[in-house]
Amino acid sequence: MLIFENRNQIEEFLDSERTKNKKIGFIPTMGFLHGGHASLILRSKKENNLTVCSIFVNPLQFDQKEDYYNYPRNINKDIEYLKYLKCDVLFLPSYESIYPPDHKIMSYHFGHLESVMEGIFRSEHFQGVAEVVRILFSIIKPHFAYFGEKDYQQLLIIKELIRQLKLPITIIPCPTIREADGLAMSSRNSLLKEEQRKNASFIYQQLLFAKQNYSKYTPHHLKNIIIENFRKNPIFKLDYFEFADAFNLQPVEKWENHKCVRAFTAARINSVRLIDNIEIFNIRD
Ligand code: AMP
Repeated sequence: MLIFENRNQIEEFLDSERTKNKKIGFIPTMGFLHGGHASLILRSKKENNLTVCSIFVNPLQFDQKEDYYNYPRNINKDIEYLKYLKCDVLFLPSYESIYPPDHKIMSYHFGHLESVMEGIFRSEHFQGVAEVVRILFSIIKPHFAYFGEKDYQQLLIIKELIRQLKLPITIIPCPTIREADGLAMSSRNSLLKEEQRKNASFIYQQLLFAKQNYSKYTPHHLKNIIIENFRKNPIFKLDYFEFADAFNLQPVEKWENHKCVRAFTAARINSVRLIDNIEIFNIRD
């Protein structure tokens, strides 16, 4: 596996690979890699000649400094894992190579997509995500970029970014990979204490309950049942539980007004904030 820390060097290398007609697949990450990241890398390996993974913990997308400093990191272990997965290239940029001193941060307008759920609880988050992804795309210039449905709102924002900037990149959504008890794999899971980890699958159980029972209730009623379930669980502090249209995140008042609905939730166990979502139904044309 080739490892680049320098922006010009990776650009030069990828430019030369592109002239050999190689298809480039790209997976941007913040590291502390797990099976969710691996699924994106393996999918890219199947569909491209060259798979590039980046690891960069982007300070711009954290609204709290402690969260940024506490974010789990283990570069050596990540490198070993990427070698094991036979990833071709790792881009490991410094802060300065992404945000040089003369860098001007762009501002983005994603409308409704950024004004709900994560957009409410983490105000500058998607602006920071869009900025780093735009910069990484401008360096890697991939043909395909792989994003997890685990961060579904982010996935829609990135698709919108591609549309607005007219970038010739295809976004490939990839399903959420879960632990055996249903907890969505996440770098943040490592911050949970043993007892907290044992209880964390409660989030998935609530999403599954919604999926299995949606036809018996109105969206409003079902949402209230689940909010009440969270309220009764002393371990969690619920940020939100919402049903939203999978295409545009518009709120769901009646199931029958939508073709595809997902349930979204974010909950905290002490300072560890976990997010997850699930498809409730999808009426394919
Ligand atoms: P992160 O390192 O958390 O920024 O995630 C990098 C990419 O991996 C994003 O596209 C995430 O949506 C994706 N990802 C994270 N966790 C999972 C998971 N459990 N299953 C599938 N994709 C995931």
